[in-house]
Amino acid sequence: MRWMVLFMAATVSATALADTRIIAHRGASAHLPEHTMAAYLLAYGQGADFLEPDLVLTRDGVPVALHDRTLDATSDVAQVFPGRARDDGLHYAIDFTLAELERLNFGERVEPETGQARYPDRWPVGQGRFGIVTLEALVETTRSLNRSTGRRVGLYPELKFPSFHRDHGQDIAAAVVAVLDRHALPSDDLPVWIQCFEPETLRDLRDAHGDRFTLIQLLAEREWAGYEDVDWDAMWAADGLDAVAAYADGVGPPLARLLERTDDGVVPSVHLQAARERGLVVHPFTFRRESMPEGVTLEAMLGLFIHELRVEALFTDHPGVAVAVRAQAP
Ligand code: CA
Repeated sequence: MRWMVLFMAATVSATALADTRIIAHRGASAHLPEHTMAAYLLAYGQGADFLEPDLVLTRDGVPVALHDRTLDATSDVAQVFPGRARDDGLHYAIDFTLAELERLNFGERVEPETGQARYPDRWPVGQGRFGIVTLEALVETTRSLNRSTGRRVGLYPELKFPSFHRDHGQDIAAAVVAVLDRHALPSDDLPVWIQCFEPETLRDLRDAHGDRFTLIQLLAEREWAGYEDVDWDAMWAADGLDAVAAYADGVGPPLARLLERTDDGVVPSVHLQAARERGLVVHPFTFRRESMPEGVTLEAMLGLFIHELRVEALFTDHPGVAVAVRAQAP
């Protein structure tokens, strides 16, 4: 019930149309398996402004669209390459060449322990044939579609696990920039924004490339596995945000960080204003129907962030829903 207070009490003063950019999180991942070309094409067709690939490197250094270091939750790697797991029983993308990954069938995400779907109401597990998507293929496809449609949809790659790649002798940022160099990106017809959780990587990009890329510092929560190395609370403090503003154009926080529960209900947290005071744009994640607080619809949450908080962009598994909410008068 408390959630309702903010949604009901919110008043709209501005009359301008909302211009929140809609980012297709791993493609239209609510409807087709994440990071597949089908999911990206559907997101494009649904009107997304940006397509998001998470990127990791293959053994031969090719950036491919994958969220995990490992292949087990989204592909048939265990059947195709028996004996190639590490001691932990998992298959790491960085242990396979692109040619090997091209032999895999990708599909809806499962919990590796049980084989059950992470999101049971989505695309059926094991249904269909979907190949690995390289950054290069996504660039060429998006650029071609922009040409044939006259639109200007962008790419918003996330550089995954730079430290992990470095430990394996690979440089994820350099490999991605090499692809962007080959295609002279970003360009007027194809904007490119770059996101990363590791501050050093973004700092190095800013130092090496100046203002060429729009850079977004992602923010995690301390309790998330794999993100314990950065003091996220310190990054949210005044000093921390000042430091971020020195190398990044904006922040990408979990959406819950921008809301706060009080006796009066749920209100915007101090973080949104703190970021804006430093000139940082705010791109929260992830607007997903299965992850909404009890009693709050995806549409209501999107409406709050688009029409009331007016964030500059947001990440969603449901780009078509977000585009529709944006088009509605609040
Ligand atoms: Ca991501």
